[in-house]
Amino acid sequence: MSLTEYLSKSLNTIKRANWYRQEKTITGLSGAVIELDGKKLVNFASNDYLGLASDERLINAAIEALQKYGTGSTGSRLLSGHRKLHEDLETAIASWKGTEKALIFSSGYSANMGTIAALMNQKDLILGDEYNHSSLKNGAKLSQSQVIEYSHNNCQDLEAKLHKNRSHYRHCLIISDSVFSMDGDLCPLPELVAIAKKYDCWLLLDEAHATGVIGKTGAGCLEHFDVKGENIIQIGTLSKAMGSLGGYVTGSEVLIDFLRNRCPTWIYTTALSPADTAAALKAVEIIQRESEKRQQLWQNITLLKQNLTSLNLSFFPSESAILCLKSKTAEQALILSLKLQENGFFAPAIRPPTVPTSRIRFSVMATHKLEHFTQLNKAIARIDNT
Ligand SMILES: *Cc1c(COP(=O)(O)O)cnc(C)c1O
Repeated sequence: MSLTEYLSKSLNTIKRANWYRQEKTITGLSGAVIELDGKKLVNFASNDYLGLASDERLINAAIEALQKYGTGSTGSRLLSGHRKLHEDLETAIASWKGTEKALIFSSGYSANMGTIAALMNQKDLILGDEYNHSSLKNGAKLSQSQVIEYSHNNCQDLEAKLHKNRSHYRHCLIISDSVFSMDGDLCPLPELVAIAKKYDCWLLLDEAHATGVIGKTGAGCLEHFDVKGENIIQIGTLSKAMGSLGGYVTGSEVLIDFLRNRCPTWIYTTALSPADTAAALKAVEIIQRESEKRQQLWQNITLLKQNLTSLNLSFFPSESAILCLKSKTAEQALILSLKLQENGFFAPAIRPPTVPTSRIRFSVMATHKLEHFTQLNKAIARIDNT
């Protein structure tokens, strides 16, 4: 079979299952309202939970860094790419997260992949939640460890699997999203910490959707549950509530020193651009200082939940800014998403293979207005009646 034949055949299978996906072009500034294909839509598809990606202070910080340092960082951190700006951001993240040190990466995806691959090998065991982000799963694969998935947020299943397997391996790492990206629920963090301790495991927590959203200063689930420990590795992204681009790992000084010497996705890649770094640094300052942004976000989350409940709609359990409406089929999710778009709302259909069951995913922002939620409810009621 030729390459073209194989690819076309695969694409046709994807299309027949209603799994085919395509990017959509957004014009102009990002925010709670965006323009898509020339039409204004209320945006429920953004990870920019606090609206910082279009905040003037981040934009100005990025411009200043561009003018001072240029566009590219020109090399890897260990060769010519390192600037004081990188160090400033790492210090700020470590201090915010209450850890000794932090290390920034080109993306959250590469932070997860590289860290897991650097820490674990063939002699080791990884236990991961079945709903973990793709970057965590691929990092586990890359590490060549024995990988076992436990059923979603099920500590009994996790313990049973540890009980059976732990003694056959050297090190063991438990991996979980802290806020699950396609469901919006939280991991049972205190229980995971207790189980990790009992079975002599380390814990890697991906705070991508918790950072900026959860915790007294927005530092994430570890802050929310007041959990600390030398065996905990925190990972996150600069690309969601922080409104920039990049990822980070934060933990003990020795962990960061080890990663600087062993982590392939940090060593063999170009350092984060000056503009992205400066914007993220400004975001760390703003998130800690302006808790009113987070309060507004949580008011909006409560409002959306109340509104959907009043329409008798069933959504997945959520304790974050992600709220998912259940759909019976991929086709039904697609149709609803399209109708919402016709009515002025951008909320994507999330379908297999990303998730096991199809859904419409709403991401709430602090910058959504009361009328956005009122209008959404009217639109859903209208769609339901046609
Ligand atoms: C988005 C996301 C990532 C990847 O972060 P990027 O900076 O976008 O590469 C990792 N983990 C989770 C849970 C995510 O949702």
